[in-house]
Order: sequence, then C-alpha cells, then structure tokens
Amino acid sequence: MQDFIEIWRRVQRRPDCTESSLNEQSFAIDILLRISCRLLIIGVGYFTGITSVWFASQTTTTQPAVQSHEDPKLTINNKKWTLASRPVGHFKPENFAWQEEELPELQDGQLLIANKMLSLDPTQRGWAAHDTYLPAMGIGDAIRGMGVGTVLESKHQKFAAGDLVQGMLNWQTHTISDGQVSPVPDISPLPLEAHFGLFGHIGATAYFGLLEVAEPKAGETLVVTGAAGAVGSLVCQIGKIKGLRVVGIAGTDEKCRWLTEDLGIDAAINYKTERVGKMLKKHAPDGIDVVFENVGGVIMDTIMSQLNNFARIALCGMIANYNAKSPVAGPYSFGNILVKRARVQGFIVLDYMHRAGEMMAEMGKWHAEGRMQYRVDVQKGLENAPDAINMLFDGRNKGKLLLEI
Ligand code: NAP
Repeated sequence: MQDFIEIWRRVQRRPDCTESSLNEQSFAIDILLRISCRLLIIGVGYFTGITSVWFASQTTTTQPAVQSHEDPKLTINNKKWTLASRPVGHFKPENFAWQEEELPELQDGQLLIANKMLSLDPTQRGWAAHDTYLPAMGIGDAIRGMGVGTVLESKHQKFAAGDLVQGMLNWQTHTISDGQVSPVPDISPLPLEAHFGLFGHIGATAYFGLLEVAEPKAGETLVVTGAAGAVGSLVCQIGKIKGLRVVGIAGTDEKCRWLTEDLGIDAAINYKTERVGKMLKKHAPDGIDVVFENVGGVIMDTIMSQLNNFARIALCGMIANYNAKSPVAGPYSFGNILVKRARVQGFIVLDYMHRAGEMMAEMGKWHAEGRMQYRVDVQKGLENAPDAINMLFDGRNKGKLLLEI
C-alpha cells in the first residue's frame, strides 16, 4: 500500500502535468480508490465487529473467473459525452458532444464495464476548464468522472463478469478498463448510494477537513458554508457530535429547515434572503472560532470579519468562484486573519485517503447509532448529465448529486 501512496505523492509533486502524465495520474487515483475501498471494508467491519470476515471476503471477491475467450463476442454500442470545448462561465450545451461508438473486442488484460451510477462533483468544472490538482481533461475525451459499474466481460485476471467495480468510469454507458478499477465493497444493509453520500471521498473530505485541518474544540462555534450539501451536511453533524455550536449557511429555506430540524444544528442562515453578517452576529454571538469553507466569495469575507482570536479556517472549496469568467478579487477581509492571528489552510481529500479507514469506522458507527444522516439526489439518464451537473452550481441538488445511467 505504501508503494501506491508513494506513486500518488510522486505524481502530485510534478508541477508540469502534461497529457502524457494523465494515465499515470489516473492510475494513482484509481490505486487510491482501491486503498479507500479496502479501508472501507476495514472501517465498516470495525463497528460491526466482523472486520476479519469482511476483509477475508474482500480478498476473495476478485479471484480469476475470466470469461472464456471462446464465448460469443459481445457487441456493445457505447454512448458517451465528450468535452467539445472548455467551459467559460457555467457549463453550456456546446461544451459537450454526444457520441456513439461500437466498442472493440477486449484485449487480454482488459475488462468491459456497464456503468451504473456516476458521482457528479463541483471539481469536474475545474477539470474541464484548466489544470488543477489533476491535469485538465482533453478536448474530445469522455468527460472524466468517478462511478460504479458491473463487469460484463473480463480478460483481466483480477476481475470476473458480474463484479461491481468503481473508478474513473467517465460519462459513458460502458467503459473498457485496463484494470485500474477496484471492487465496490459490500456495505449492506446500506444501499450503494451510501458509498458516495456517507463514505468515499465525500465522507473523507468532511471528516479530515474538519477534525484534522480545522482542529475544533468542544464548546467552540463552527460556521459551515454550503452547509446543506454533500460535504457540508456531514461537517455540520460531525461538529455537533464533537460538541460545537454549529451555524450553517445554505441557499433555500428548505435546506435551512433540514439542517436545524433534521440534523439538529443550532442555526441556519439563508444567504439568499437574509443578511449574513447580521444573522452571524445573532447566531454566533461569541464570535467564530472554526470555519469550514465550501463557498468563498462575499460569504467568506463576511465570516472572516467576525473571527475570534486564533480561529481556524479549513478551506475546502470556493464554489462561488468556479464559474467566474475572469480572476476574482478578494478576499477583502484578509487583514482580519492577521489581527485575529487566525489560520487558513486549504486541503485536498486525496492527501487523506490513506487514512480513510479511520473515517469509515467513525462515520459508520455514528450512522448506525442514528447520529449521522446523509442525503442523496439521484438524477436519471446519461443524456441528462450536462444539465444535472449544473444543479451543483445553482443549488438545485439536495444532497450528494448522483447520476443513474
Ligand atoms: P454540494 O455542496 O452537494 O453542492 C454544491 C452546493 O454549493 C449547491 O447545492 C449550492 O447550495 C452551493 N452553491 C453553489 N453555488 C454557490 C454560490 N455561488 N454561492 C454559495 N453557494 C453555492 O457539493 P459537494 O460535492 O459537497 O462540494 C461542496 C464543496 O466542497 C465544493 O466547493 C467542492 O469543490 C468542495 N470539495 C472539496 C474537496 C477537497 O478535497 N478539498 C472534496 C470534495 C468537495 P446552496 O443551495 O446552499 O446555494
């Protein structure tokens, strides 16, 4: 496992990411997904008391049961969305091209996957536009995205027809993989959606971002932006479990009610209808000690003007800026970081995935105890993907946004 982590670190240290390094980076990510998957088994097993049984079953789920080369050839018509042009502002229809193709026969070492469910993430807007922590998607490539699917045919010794696998399956009905996918763990009785909405990269972002980056202490006041979203709603609940006063900021009354009435946070502010600065003074009367920042922009500025001494800001995302057409000025309250001796730390969840087992154990336990909820928003039909991803940017999604193919 250390080897895999080292590969990721090596790739990550390269500032000159080029098209030719994409395969190596994708390999490293898929390896991390494998590690995450194994750790999920360990974590869930921990709280259910069946760690060893699940781990044993995990190591036997991918025994070679390769479909015979003499089986009749499957003729597959793959449908996919490719990147036609880089987005400027919000994604628009002309950024995507629908293509259909007959897939070639599998080569030795490959497997054919029927994709079932895709994870739609704000970071895909950045991947489509420019280099980020990954190189930009290539024009003409299938839109990059994580997902799960079922193996239809395998000429890879580690996978067999019928296996459920995960990885960078991209926006298409079928994926031919060289094996850079990993088995989806059995998290029953939880549904597959929990793999995306409670655990996985969303759970790890919330768990490590709050507890490791922001270092909250019981009794402090935490403000969460994007509070009703996939990451934000988990952060709010972890904050309550850890004894913090939690104030969430979200974009609709329904989301605010869900946060206070169902998730039990102390107060929620609708940033579209209320004055955030005034409401923060009301709901965080002793000032703000910890911020979990998903949004950036003017909301972050307003929060930064009400920090306490030695406050910590975990900078997880700045979704308010992702669709900006030109560089965004600010933050304007940055001087307050100085006078309040505050700390701002950005983070990327990939740096924590080698420790996903800790998160799986805790989040699974909290969920089993009824102290942790997750909400998923499952859209249907690959043809609807270009519209569905924009739900993240206009706030139509209610929970972890998924696309069922
Ligand atoms: P999400 O919160 O489920 O969905 C995005 C939400 O952002 C929308 O529902 C909308 O909610 C809000 N939003 C969109 N545009 C906004 C704007 N201009 N101003 C204020 N709010 C806006 O998505 P997620 O997957 O959990 O991601 C949340 C954040 O975490 C994103 O910034 C993402 O990039 C970041 N993230 C970072 C990492 C990492 O490793 N650092 C990993 C995963 C995610 P409202 O209705 O409340 O406006």
